[in-house]
Amino acid sequence: MIARLIYFLFLNLLGFLLGFFIPHGLGAWQGACLGIFIVSMSLFLIDTWRSLIFLGWVRSNDLLNPRDQSGILGESADRLRRLFRQKNLELTASEENLRQFLSAIQASPNGVVLLDTEWHIVWSNRTASQHLGIDPEKDAYQLIGYLLRNPVFSAYVRSGLYEYEIVIEGRENRSDHPQKIAVQVFPYGDGRKLLLSRDITALEQAEVMRRDFVANVSHEIRTPLTVLMGFVETMQNLKLSDIEIQDFLNLMSQQALRMQTLVQDLLTLSHLDGSPLPSETEWHDFDSLWQSCYEEANGLMHVLNQRDGSSHILQFDLPEELQAHQISGSLDEIKSAFTNLVSNALRYTPSGGAITVSCSQKMEYFEFSVKDTGFGISPEHLPRLTERFYRIDRSRSRDTGGTGLGLAIVKHVIQRHGGHLRIESKLNFGSCFTLEFPNSRFRRKSTQFHSQ
Ligand code: ADP
Repeated sequence: MIARLIYFLFLNLLGFLLGFFIPHGLGAWQGACLGIFIVSMSLFLIDTWRSLIFLGWVRSNDLLNPRDQSGILGESADRLRRLFRQKNLELTASEENLRQFLSAIQASPNGVVLLDTEWHIVWSNRTASQHLGIDPEKDAYQLIGYLLRNPVFSAYVRSGLYEYEIVIEGRENRSDHPQKIAVQVFPYGDGRKLLLSRDITALEQAEVMRRDFVANVSHEIRTPLTVLMGFVETMQNLKLSDIEIQDFLNLMSQQALRMQTLVQDLLTLSHLDGSPLPSETEWHDFDSLWQSCYEEANGLMHVLNQRDGSSHILQFDLPEELQAHQISGSLDEIKSAFTNLVSNALRYTPSGGAITVSCSQKMEYFEFSVKDTGFGISPEHLPRLTERFYRIDRSRSRDTGGTGLGLAIVKHVIQRHGGHLRIESKLNFGSCFTLEFPNSRFRRKSTQFHSQ
């Protein structure tokens, strides 16, 4: 600033001296004044011209590239440029933060809608559009009430009671595909609102299944209990002969056995639900598993045949090439799945029928199947057979000691071992239930010695 003042005074002095000493038609003092005037005017015009260039640069929005200028304006331009660059960097950083923040909200499994004080949509994420049908672009600044035309939601908005969530039907709700969405509003700031939505369809379905399960279990237990109570009351109130008492006790024992089987199956299911997946590195001798399955099946056949006076042909085929193998997983679970399949085959095959148990190794899996020549199953029942308590013929299942949980256990076991249950059946011709284990769970015995 001082340098500029000195520069200004120096030029004026020069103008003064030139006007004073250089001969011209005017007097010396008039010449000096003219010299000062010309110098001042020139400086004024130069400054005006440079200021105009500066203004043009400021207006150009190209503040990062200053025009070549010196002096006060040059320094101002430089400072302005640096300030602008710094603000630009700050803006880019905060834009990046905002972008990251919005993409985090986009990734949320919950729907998020930001609403202004008048319930206009300010911003919404993709999940909100899936849940509530809001288009994040087209519906911006629309009233949410116009888009969500749901009486429950309208009443909720009017009530002003946002401590609780409400449940409404989702955008994709159909009679064959229900979709339930939980919605809650959270007021914030100066009257703005945050609306969160959550898909609770699976939760609701699980709750319905849980209720059905409890109802089924209660029903299954109540039936034998009622029969038992009936016998107890009869024995208490009537004078019975020894033979009658023996008969009653036999019937009571059957009912108690039925309850015991049901409780055992329920415990097996709860164990399967709650325990870690079977090991993939614990190998068991397949020959001995096969042998114990054979003994178990034989024992079961004798018990059932004796009880019902029936007779079956039981055949066990273990191909020679599959001997000296090992299987990995839980022995107890595999045996329980196997026993359930053999028990079903025996119970749903009339006397004289044949049950064949076999195994073979395919390219993709190792299979273990139980085939019978029994009643068979018509196709419409096949998809539901593994549901808990699903039975085609309730009385036949009960009469033969079934609980309706056997195939649910089998499916659970094979899924826990990474495989799946295949069911083939033809009404009146018999059925074949196959457990497909992944090949990684089956190996030759010698492999173990090489690998260890
Ligand atoms: P349950 O204890 O009633 O046998 P499961 O879950 O084991 O229950 O089987 C479900 C239903 O599938 C049975 O009630 C029966 O109707 C049918 N089922 C199972 N195995 C066979 C089979 N081998 N042959 C014919 N029907 C079968």
